Amino acid sequence: MKRKSEKFPTAHSRKSIQASTGKFKDTMGKSLKAKDQAMIWHPFTQMKTHGDAVPIVKAKGAWLYDESGNKILDAVASWWVNTHGHSHPYIAERLAKQANELEHVIFAGFTHPPAVELAEKLLPKLPEKHQKLFFSDNGSTAVEVALKMSFQYWFNQEKPRYKVLALKDSYHGDTFGAMSVSGRTSYSNPFEPNLFDALYISSPGNTSEAEVVQQMEKILKQEKIAAFIIEPLVQGAEGMLMYSPETLDKLIAMARKNGALIIADEVMTGFGRTGTFFASDQLQNKPDIICMSKGLTGGTMALGLTSCTNEIYEVFYSNDQLKTFFHGHSFTANPLACTAALASLELFERENTMEKVAGIAELHSIFAAELKKHPSVENVRQCGSILAFDIYKAGEERNYFHSMRDTIYNYFLQKGILLRPLGNTLYILPPYCIAKEELQWLYGEVLEFLDGI
Ligand code: PMP
Repeated sequence: MKRKSEKFPTAHSRKSIQASTGKFKDTMGKSLKAKDQAMIWHPFTQMKTHGDAVPIVKAKGAWLYDESGNKILDAVASWWVNTHGHSHPYIAERLAKQANELEHVIFAGFTHPPAVELAEKLLPKLPEKHQKLFFSDNGSTAVEVALKMSFQYWFNQEKPRYKVLALKDSYHGDTFGAMSVSGRTSYSNPFEPNLFDALYISSPGNTSEAEVVQQMEKILKQEKIAAFIIEPLVQGAEGMLMYSPETLDKLIAMARKNGALIIADEVMTGFGRTGTFFASDQLQNKPDIICMSKGLTGGTMALGLTSCTNEIYEVFYSNDQLKTFFHGHSFTANPLACTAALASLELFERENTMEKVAGIAELHSIFAAELKKHPSVENVRQCGSILAFDIYKAGEERNYFHSMRDTIYNYFLQKGILLRPLGNTLYILPPYCIAKEELQWLYGEVLEFLDGI
């Protein structure tokens, strides 16, 4: 099927971007590739069947550059982390200065300006009742901290609760606690006997609200829940499932009646992705705990944060040593990571980043309307800067291991675009610095691909 669209790049404008990206040559980084293959085991990668890793030597703005100078548009913000663009000079400058002053110091019994300044800058952006921040290393550890904090909250009050309520089709990370409360999939099968039991309700992203509410009522009648954990508004890794703030408000109210603490895993949704600074900003019923990572440092480096209300903190604050929160990592609140986070928060203000997010959302919605008309596309959905849809061929269902996945991935890589479909779900989640012309070029390439299937 061939169609022409006025709104998206003409063959001419598309060519001009391609000309600047250069044709995707296969001369790139042979030596680096060979060494990598000999020594390195990559994440979420079947090393036998996957092609060589693409050696990237430089990145600027929304673009990655390989050894031969080929450009690749980073349309997934490098696993959803990047916000202001790669190698942002302001973050780089602040990091270099900090590296010469204080690179790291133990955080038990010690503190430092980057951690305190980050707390000063971030706490006002969180729900009012959130008054304490606990640092860790990444998204999974931010979730581990939230879970352990919740369990110990009940334990310290001598009213132990051990059950976590979660959404099916959720993803909270790869450590054991995070896996235990994530949707159970082929990924978690090898570890199943070692995971703790969680309770699940269907995701409002693929099940009617009435049914989800009914499932929840049934569980809440029978169980005392320690915590209800959610990816607010967008469930990322399990297919970019989206649902409304009104539905989530309802579910949170129900869980709260049961006494459960509410954990919002904003590892992916935080820092502007959903159109507001946090997805929780769109809720009336605010969570008690928020997990952050990815965009926290602008996507520069790893850092995890778990914020909580003073009410939770008070339950640990005691003369009793046994009420201490027994958790901590060697690199807790690393000054360099905190500096990158501080610089990134400053950039949100200096560069009016949320306006850029709004601009992306507007362009996405125009493209979404076009996609909805396409015969190979279903379930077009958008939340802020995230646009997702399912590609159907011969009526097959959404499935992470869909054979179409590799075809789509390789097709776009050859075009100089990094897109990582989740099965036959294709999504665009760009760095906020992406230019209108770059996005429109990308949309044009997506349409061309769809027209060809
Ligand atoms: N929670 C959510 C919602 C995520 O999307 C992810 C990562 N994709 C994680 C937790 C885990 O974060 P990390 O990979 O940094 O451990």
